Amino acid sequence: MIRVRFAPSPTGFVHVGNARTALFNFFHVRGKKGVCVLRIEDTDVERSKKEYEENLLTDLKWLGIEWDEGPDVGGDFGPYRQSERGEFYKQAVQRLIEKDNAYYCFCSREELEKEKQDLIGLDNPAGYTHRCRNLDMEKSRLRVSQGEEAAVRFKVPKNRQVSFRDMVRGDVSFETNLLNDPVIMRSSGIPAYNFSVVIDDISMKIDLVIRGEDHLSNTARQVLIYEALEQTPPEFAHLSMVMGADNAKLSKRHGSTSLAQFREQGYLPAALLNYLSLLGWSPGDDKQVLTKEELIKSFNLNKVSKSAAIFDYQKLKWINREHIRLLEDSTLGEIFSPFLEEAGFAFERNPEILTWIGKTAKVMSNYHYLLTEIAEAFKSLTKVDFSPDIIKGLRDSGTSRKVISRLFAGISRLDSPVAFSRIVEITQKIRQKTGIKGKELYHPIRLALTGKESGIELSDFIPMIEEGSILKISPPVINMKSRLEIHDH
Ligand code: GLU
Repeated sequence: MIRVRFAPSPTGFVHVGNARTALFNFFHVRGKKGVCVLRIEDTDVERSKKEYEENLLTDLKWLGIEWDEGPDVGGDFGPYRQSERGEFYKQAVQRLIEKDNAYYCFCSREELEKEKQDLIGLDNPAGYTHRCRNLDMEKSRLRVSQGEEAAVRFKVPKNRQVSFRDMVRGDVSFETNLLNDPVIMRSSGIPAYNFSVVIDDISMKIDLVIRGEDHLSNTARQVLIYEALEQTPPEFAHLSMVMGADNAKLSKRHGSTSLAQFREQGYLPAALLNYLSLLGWSPGDDKQVLTKEELIKSFNLNKVSKSAAIFDYQKLKWINREHIRLLEDSTLGEIFSPFLEEAGFAFERNPEILTWIGKTAKVMSNYHYLLTEIAEAFKSLTKVDFSPDIIKGLRDSGTSRKVISRLFAGISRLDSPVAFSRIVEITQKIRQKTGIKGKELYHPIRLALTGKESGIELSDFIPMIEEGSILKISPPVINMKSRLEIHDH
């Protein structure tokens, strides 16, 4: 059974680029009925925070990613936090030292920095002379046993190539002479990324590593560590970076970048999941709107493109709208309720109200893309803030007065909710009796009901206010009769 892992560092909020890496792991393995591992890479003690880890789990779950093993669900290959796996790393470091694949480095941070400065402009692109590489191991061990601080570095073999096959990029190779001897364990005893990741991927029996292409040169170092440990490396798939429209790496400057921000703005998780899966991959036909189940079925890692993926906010909005429309009214009502409450509405979450809310939100999605925008638009149903100009304009015009008073008379006998078909009949009668038609007939009605020159279609607006007005919602939805009353003097 194939095993993959997603290995985020809890050093901040989840960036969409990382979420997309997690998703590709998830889709790939679910399609093959394999196992998805979540491993928390929290060895950077200064930047890793418990609350980031908590957010990370919440955000990934919100998006719809599921894992079979991880810090919250356990599994046979734990612990799933690197900070709890110290023993694994210590043993492996000793093995590498014994096999002459690693050595103690006594250089202080200041010395290394100075050396880097001194080597600028000289023929040493690494900025490091590896001066501890040839120290006598017996003497080094003695210094360490006497309490001298030392990091451990991996001895990168010289004068050769290191190659691996990448499922996205094909054959990749690096000259080993261009790779510094990486620190694998800091003097504090904390392992470094390139090392802990290898030890964990080996002991967690990972078959395939899917991650961002910013790790490509790390992979070369890691392959050398696998070799030194006499282990076969997993397969690799490096995903292209997610860029903004200007081809720079997607960052705050371009707009929202974290899952939390998209959630707060009212993107549906299904929409974001759908959109992220299209960054560098496509199902191969014209279909753009896909559910999670469809994505799992059709995802194919071999079809992932190696060119950079451009994050298109507009397309994401469009996909969000499409997913709003895919939901059942009551389900949408349920999901949308917190946004309405946040916008100041209060109501009981009963089936009748939730269905109306969902149905209305769907109609509103003809005009808006995000749940936060739709919640704002709901305020037009409960407010009648007509400008004095509009009220005066309607009163001063003989035709408008005629249309409105007849419409008002027509509906005042009827109980709410007045069906839209009745309104159509009444307006047809007004046209027959008065000869007023077209814009002259409909524009005053629109103004009198919405207070706006343009915007929402009356065939959308009228059912919303009529059906909403009989529900217990605070502030209450204002029906046609009450709106027209303002103008009918
Ligand atoms: N913790 C690393 C990161 O967040 C994981 C990279 C990997 O998947 O190996 O970039």
